[in-house]
Amino acid sequence: MKIILMGPPGAGKGTQAERISDQFNMTHLSSGDIFRAEKASGSELGTKMAEYMDAGKLVPDEIVVQVMAKAIREAEGEGLLLDGFPRTVPQAKALDEQLAKDNLSMDASVVIVVPDDMIVERITGRRSCPKCGKLYHVKYMPPQEDMKCDIDGEQLVQRSDDTEDVVRQRLSTYHAQTQPVIAYYKENDTVKVLEIDGTPRPDEVARNMVQALKSLEG
Ligand code: AMP
Repeated sequence: MKIILMGPPGAGKGTQAERISDQFNMTHLSSGDIFRAEKASGSELGTKMAEYMDAGKLVPDEIVVQVMAKAIREAEGEGLLLDGFPRTVPQAKALDEQLAKDNLSMDASVVIVVPDDMIVERITGRRSCPKCGKLYHVKYMPPQEDMKCDIDGEQLVQRSDDTEDVVRQRLSTYHAQTQPVIAYYKENDTVKVLEIDGTPRPDEVARNMVQALKSLEG
């Protein structure tokens, strides 16, 4: 199965992606993770990306499309979960074109819906393990031991773009540039749109999402 996971920053895309990509045997490609790795490598491309990422702005489409097209082509196996891409209508059109060339299509776009006022609280409490990438929340999903990863004991860190000011900027970017992608899919019918309520606890969201995906499998 090939799906696009969408939703505002802090909707729980990363947490849900970890669970469903395992269960449905999909390669999980997170544009944010790929770009953060590029940034951490200190490459010229990564340094350019960081200028946008640290300000809560979108990386320009031509860079994004180039990097993600390569990652999709190199992804192993049949199943694919795109997380964080496409995030603008031009990116969605570029993805449609690339898939059509390879005679492929996405089965659905799953949108996790969460109101803005919940997002800020969620994101500012978000922490992750710098070694294995596991995600936590200081209040809703704390580690067993104070600020250390349950798996490898690493000290948890906060993303540099998870501060309140940057979150508000990322939310306004989401409404202006990414919500039109959902409208584009609904209008053009290239990808089926499934909306999931992202406000319950992660386990319940996961259950609802699994049910929705199983209905796609038929
Ligand atoms: P994320 O982890 O998905 O919230 O992404 C972190 C940051 O990476 C975003 O705030 C953007 O600056 C950048 N980014 C990730 N995916 C995209 C995309 N598809 N288009 C443009 N910028 C992106």
